Order: sequence, then structure tokens, then C-alpha cells
Amino acid sequence: AKNAGRDTIRFFNPEMQATIDARAAMEAALRDAIRRRELQLYYQPQVNRDGRITGAEALLRWLPPSLEPIPPDRFIPVAEETGLILPIGAWALAQGCARLAGWQKEPATADLTLSLNVSARQFHQPDFVAQVWGQIKRFEIDPAKLKLELTESALIDRVDEMIERLHRLKGLGVGISLDDFGTGYSSLSYLKRLPLDEIKIDQSFVRDITHDQNDAAIVRAILAMSRSLGLDVIAEGVETQEQRAFLLRHGCEHYQGYLFGRPGPIEDFPAPLAGHGVQ
Ligand code: C2E
Ligand code: CA
Ligand code: CA
Ligand code: CA
Repeated sequence: AKNAGRDTIRFFNPEMQATIDARAAMEAALRDAIRRRELQLYYQPQVNRDGRITGAEALLRWLPPSLEPIPPDRFIPVAEETGLILPIGAWALAQGCARLAGWQKEPATADLTLSLNVSARQFHQPDFVAQVWGQIKRFEIDPAKLKLELTESALIDRVDEMIERLHRLKGLGVGISLDDFGTGYSSLSYLKRLPLDEIKIDQSFVRDITHDQNDAAIVRAILAMSRSLGLDVIAEGVETQEQRAFLLRHGCEHYQGYLFGRPGPIEDFPAPLAGHGVQ
């Protein structure tokens, strides 16, 4: 291929082979990780305007023994492609419901909500609603405290069927949150059709909110729009008091970000005792 002329189409090169090998290796390692129970959910606090903890988002980590935790962006794409996200997602759903059951036993934590990320592939399984209901019953949890986070990518194919599925999920009593809001292509008329409870302002807008006029305008518009649609809003990626002050000023109700706490194992989750806030 070295001397391939300008008009020659090169179907294959060593770099492509290396990519395929790396993927295959990652898939094999991930299968082992599942078997060895090296996946864990980390919990990141979500707080209200006063900084008081109202719940958590569960975030997957892969913790190989004696290595640094592997972040989800490095293995979830492979899990999605290979279908491994289905057993992983089912495990996370059960794990999250077990956590809620634990919280609901103690008065101090009984009101906490738990947000779980649901991948498009997981949501598209025909029996997804039945799976959610099965875990709610199994752990006897209050479904109102469970929030399922979906991205627009889960809702662009077979739109009517997926909207119907969202209605059935809501019928179980669980909350629906639209993740990464603002990064997709949803029109307002489409949004209005979705039975949502909450939208999450993507961290890419929050990051520069205090010095980028466009991002500031987008965030103000999202907050105003959610108010008029009667949706809850949570801002993600809040790292500074300046970002928090801007969001507070424009009416944002809920916050998540390093300013309030990083994702960590459940043992490190700050205890929301009465009156106790993060900041
Ligand atoms: P996401 O759902 O948008 O999650 C928010 C990400 O932002 C998390 O990254 C979180 O650790 C990070 N984050 C939180 N606060 C801050 C902050 O103040 N600053 C910055 N720079 N980042 C912050 P993480 O944990 O690496 O997860 C990445 C993505 O992996 C998630 O994005 C989600 O799409 C996916 N993911 C995580 N857990 C699961 C899961 O259980 N199932 C599925 N399907 N996807 C998951
Ligand atoms: Ca999320
Ligand atoms: Ca997000
Ligand atoms: Ca994201």
C-alpha cells in the first residue's frame, strides 16, 4: 500500500487492523469484567437551590483490581456495539433499585431520588418496561423516586412507539429525564410530545456560562422554556460558585457537578442528615 497512487482506494491498512484488535480485546476484557463483578455504580449527589442533597445519579465504573477505574466513555461504546450493554444495563437497574430500597428504609434518606442512565439499545428492548416493573416489585421501592435518564438518540427511531413506551413507563410511576439536553436536534414541537418530567442541561453549556454570551443565552432560554412547559431542570457539570450563581439567578432548581460532589462509591456518599447540605 506504500506506493498506492492517488486514485487507488485502500481498503485496509495496519492502523485499521490495530483498531479492530483493540476493540476485540476490549470486548473480551469487558466480558471477563462482568463475570468477575468488576463493574460498580458510583453515586454523584444532586442538590437543590440551597445545596441540600435531593438524590444521586448512578454512574458506571469499571474497577479492575489494582488498576485505575476505567471511565464509562472508554467501554460503554464497545458495550453498545456488542450488545453487552443489555446485561450491564439490567444489572445496573437491579443495583440501582436495591440502593433505593436501602435508602427508603431510613427516614433520613427516604426521600432521595436515584437517576439511572438508560442506553438507547436498552430502551429499545421490547420488554424494557416489564424489566423496570419487575425490579420495582422485586425491591418494593417507591417508583416515584426512580428517574430514568434517556438521551434523544433513544427517541429518534420509531418515534410513536417510543413515545408510547415512555407513557407506559410513566404509568409505572417512574420519572423520565432527558439527558444532555441541547446537544441534539429536537424541535420544540417534538419535545412537547414527549412525556418528560425533567431535562438535564448539558455540561457543555454550563462550562462557559459565565464568559460565553451564546452559552449564557442558550441556558437562559432552556430555563425559560422548561418553566413554560412545566418541566424540572437540572444543570450538570456545575464546577464553580460563579456558574452556580448564574444558574440560581435564572431560576435553575437542581444542580449536579464537582462543586457539590464527585461521583464515588456508595460508602463515600455524603449522608443527607436533616438540614445537612453539601455546601
Ligand atoms: P452523563 O450521563 O452525561 O453523565 C455525566 C458525566 O459528567 C459523568 O461522567 C460525570 O462523572 C461527569 N461529571 C459530573 N459532574 C461533573 C463536573 O462538574 N465536571 C465535569 N467535567 N464532569 C462532571 P462519567 O461518569 O465519566 O460518565 C460518562 C457517560 O457514560 C455518562 O454521561 C453516560 O452517558 C455514560 N454512563 C455512565 N453510567 C452509565 C450507565 O449506567 N448506563 C449507561 N447506558 N450509560 C452510562
Ligand atoms: Ca446522565
Ligand atoms: Ca448528561
Ligand atoms: Ca454526556
